[in-house]
Amino acid sequence: MARYTGSVCRICRRENLKLYLKGDRCYSDKCAFDRRGYPPGEHGQRRGRKISDYGIQLREKQKVKRMYGLSENQFRLFFARADRQKGVTGTKLLVSLERRLDNVVYRMGFVNSRSQGRHFVRHRHFVINGKRVNIPSYLVKVGDVVEVQEKSRKIQAINDSLDAVVRRGVPQWLDLEKEKMKGIINAFPVREDLTMPIQEQLIVELYSK
Ligand code: SF4
Repeated sequence: MARYTGSVCRICRRENLKLYLKGDRCYSDKCAFDRRGYPPGEHGQRRGRKISDYGIQLREKQKVKRMYGLSENQFRLFFARADRQKGVTGTKLLVSLERRLDNVVYRMGFVNSRSQGRHFVRHRHFVINGKRVNIPSYLVKVGDVVEVQEKSRKIQAINDSLDAVVRRGVPQWLDLEKEKMKGIINAFPVREDLTMPIQEQLIVELYSK
């Protein structure tokens, strides 16, 4: 399935939630969701639309899939992997999405969005435990050390993102040594670390049909 190339702000409006897909802009008064917090399109402002159970489950899946910037196939692979693991499938799914390298560099504050994270990972700006990794879907492990590689430390976008990380905060499962441009995975994230309103059970129900 082709990657979505339209307006990303449209996605937030469609999902009726700020998904923080555009970095600094999301925190400014230019945020399209803050300005027009209703679905896009001709019928966006129509009230009282009934949504089926299937529709609700589908929207929840779309929301999470788009939040992490994945295609349908990539998302299904993550779900299938979570489904094979012991424990609550929905939680396992969210935890493994959080462990993606493009998400981790975003959470650590090296980039200002997951899409920028994906781009920078592909361009080899990060090393893990001393080795360059250019795979955005790489799953970090406890104890991994993620660093901005030496030659990339002067990149303005990385420095700007690190300056702005205070606004977002770094989750407890990660440790950031800002001056050294380095972060450590302290633990795997737990459900409570994910503060976005996600009802993962609806995704499990959708894929269990
Ligand atoms: Fe979503 Fe950010 Fe656009 Fe606001 S600015 S609508 S949070 S992507």
